[in-house]
Amino acid sequence: MDASSTVATTEIPRASAAREIVHVCRRLYQAGLIAGRDGNVSVRLAENVILVTPAGPAKGDIAESDLIELDLTGRQLGGTGSASSEVGMHLRIYQRRGDVRAVVHAHPPVATGFGVAGLDFMDDVLPEFIFYLGGVPLIPYAMPGTPALADALEPYLAAHDGFLLANHGATTVGPTLLLAHQRMESMEQAARIMLTARTLGRVNALSPEQGDALRAARQSALAARRMAPEDAGEDR
Ligand SMILES: [Zn+2]
Repeated sequence: MDASSTVATTEIPRASAAREIVHVCRRLYQAGLIAGRDGNVSVRLAENVILVTPAGPAKGDIAESDLIELDLTGRQLGGTGSASSEVGMHLRIYQRRGDVRAVVHAHPPVATGFGVAGLDFMDDVLPEFIFYLGGVPLIPYAMPGTPALADALEPYLAAHDGFLLANHGATTVGPTLLLAHQRMESMEQAARIMLTARTLGRVNALSPEQGDALRAARQSALAARRMAPEDAGEDR
């Protein structure tokens, strides 16, 4: 996806990003997409600076002062704790995708169940998987919190905005934290629908033409966003 050539240069104030991260962590917890110490969320404040959730505390309870500032090499610039153990995955995404300004990693139970079963969301069945996420590939298992996880994700990074991590969880990205969070919620909702259809015993796929029309709509929406990079609104 050539959106990766768009480099995020506008700076986002730390205070507003911190408020948004804390809010999204609460929403993830309330929606059951994380539990205990699961999950991590980050925002790119400037081209080479991110703000990320810390290792340790339950993410549903974190405060703005708990957040950690890092440069894209992982050097800590601010904050008193240490960054989330999954920060390597976040850094790799920001290094490879100049268009990404936010990353959400959670353990959505239904979507993750598909990942445990070895299933992805690449078939043309639901418009949200195609239009919103660019299809969701299954990333081969790698030990959480290690560079192997970022390495496993890397081949899939350019073409998708959502990723199922086998036997682990899911990650979504976006040009805003609002959109990255919506993509996570959308993936879980679509996973519930897929589970229902499978339980009913039949999954009717879209036709190739219907799938192609959604892919074309996605490309138009991405191109429109590139022409108006400051537009934080969603495409649909
Ligand atoms: Zn995880």
